[in-house]
Amino acid sequence: MIARLLLPQPLRDAIAADARAAFPCECCGLIEGRREGDAARALAAHPVRNLAPEPDRFELDPAGHFRLMRSLRGTGREIIGCYHSHPNGRAELSSRDRAYAGEDNFVWLIAGIDAEGPISWSCYVSHGVDWRMVEIAISEEHASCT
Ligand SMILES: [Zn+2]
Repeated sequence: MIARLLLPQPLRDAIAADARAAFPCECCGLIEGRREGDAARALAAHPVRNLAPEPDRFELDPAGHFRLMRSLRGTGREIIGCYHSHPNGRAELSSRDRAYAGEDNFVWLIAGIDAEGPISWSCYVSHGVDWRMVEIAISEEHASCT
């Protein structure tokens, strides 16, 4: 069961830039990495097209999802989770997020963003209908490209 997300600073910065660019709409994307015991190590962030017509929700383009899954096959890496932004500034699961039928142990990173303040972050993982908070550990290291 994932309890920690190891997130390199440059990756967090990249997701923050994605969230700022999409504001006041939601950005979304997938997180590539590895599961290491109870930790999920993020190695790359992949912005994915948001198909949702409403500005305050997101729907990952499945084509982007499949493309990334294919490209990771045999690399020892996998899609460990997703990220999206909340333009209302609140980095917490919305009722819509909670209702989403996702796969177990899939990490959800949320960036709460408003027009000017700093971005707030939260992370969750789902187990059936249950959601648990995941600790975000920021590391200095750069994402490797191997
Ligand atoms: Zn949300």
